[in-house]
Amino acid sequence: MECLNAIKVRSRSFIRCYRVLAIESSCDDACVTLLDRFSMRESPRVVDELKKTLDSTSRGGVVPAEAARHNSKNISVLANEAIARNGWNAPDTRPDLVCATRGPGMLGSLSAGYQLALGLAVAWQVPIVGVNHMLGHLLMARLSTNGNHPSFPFLSLLVSGGHTICVLSHSLTEHEILVNTVDIAAGDALDKCGRELGFKGNMIGKEMDKFLDDHREEWGQPAELELKEPMLNESHRKDVMSYSFASFISQLRRSINKYHGGNIPEDDATRARMAYQLETAIFQHMITKIKLAIRKRGLSIDEFVCSGGVASNLMLRRMLKKQLKPLGITRFYFPDPQHCTDNATMIGWTGIELYEKGYTTDLCTTITRKWPIDELLDLYGWVKKQPEK
Ligand code: AMP
Ligand code: ZN
Repeated sequence: MECLNAIKVRSRSFIRCYRVLAIESSCDDACVTLLDRFSMRESPRVVDELKKTLDSTSRGGVVPAEAARHNSKNISVLANEAIARNGWNAPDTRPDLVCATRGPGMLGSLSAGYQLALGLAVAWQVPIVGVNHMLGHLLMARLSTNGNHPSFPFLSLLVSGGHTICVLSHSLTEHEILVNTVDIAAGDALDKCGRELGFKGNMIGKEMDKFLDDHREEWGQPAELELKEPMLNESHRKDVMSYSFASFISQLRRSINKYHGGNIPEDDATRARMAYQLETAIFQHMITKIKLAIRKRGLSIDEFVCSGGVASNLMLRRMLKKQLKPLGITRFYFPDPQHCTDNATMIGWTGIELYEKGYTTDLCTTITRKWPIDELLDLYGWVKKQPEK
């Protein structure tokens, strides 16, 4: 079925096909995607995807004020470019739905994208869906091109620069956080450890992973690095359902002081051995707690999603499959690397899923720095319509 024109779509009592403009601006990426929901039986067509990332290499991390300025300067330009170059600017080709990240994230960055989305919704007189960024990562795995996607209930590991959570999803709007981090996210720990080992770049964890790929001969070789997995059982605590990644940085610093006089090891082989031990130890910590969660909750779940920037790591994917298969998980879903990191396609797709269940967001809403995925509907401003048959 080809898409009807926008005016016809708006006047129909039950929307069967429509066009979506999606915006993501929760951190240092300004992203815009156009999606064509041309049929309800097939995945929407990704018509265009634009992304501009702030270069923070020289800053050693994202500075919120710079990220806000980056998004304020770029998000309208990207939206304008996407709309114009695809001819979505005529009365009968304009988007019928606007979706934008409402939280969690950096306030200045979020505000730039969300305010633009509200303005476009008003100008075009179309609904808006304010999307939870983590739900976007989670549902990205349900946007499949080959009809292969997880169905509720399923288990997820969402692992990025800002979050690391293991989530049990019962339905589109009901999510339970089984394991959360008590300090920093795994991606943040990988980036900070990578910096201690002399890696540079915008995403240091990714740079370290590329370097490891070029030094496979060092994988598993002994390294002068003493690492202990955090949050394991001890006499005073048992079965703690939490992550802690900050200690990997201090453990690495202690070993560098002890064995390398506090200096970054110069030869690549030594750095590769240390990076391998670190990466696998951090991944093992994630998996140990997923296994604990499955056991403690007596879960019988056979589908598993891993998403967020760190999910692009192939070693992590291999370790998850190897260790979770014996626990009954038979189907694994990993978005392609470009859709593991922040993108507007996941926001558009999540907006579509919510919209088709009857959810839109009121115009009198604003962004939010914190918005736990297990409190999805608790945030003010949802408008719920019963879908017509
Ligand atoms: P996000 O916050 O979802 O945009 O993801 C960014 C985080 O993912 C950063 O901490 C990156 O270093 C990390 N990351 C991206 N690719 C990889 C990779 N292949 N291996 C490990 N970490 C990665
Ligand atoms: Zn993210």
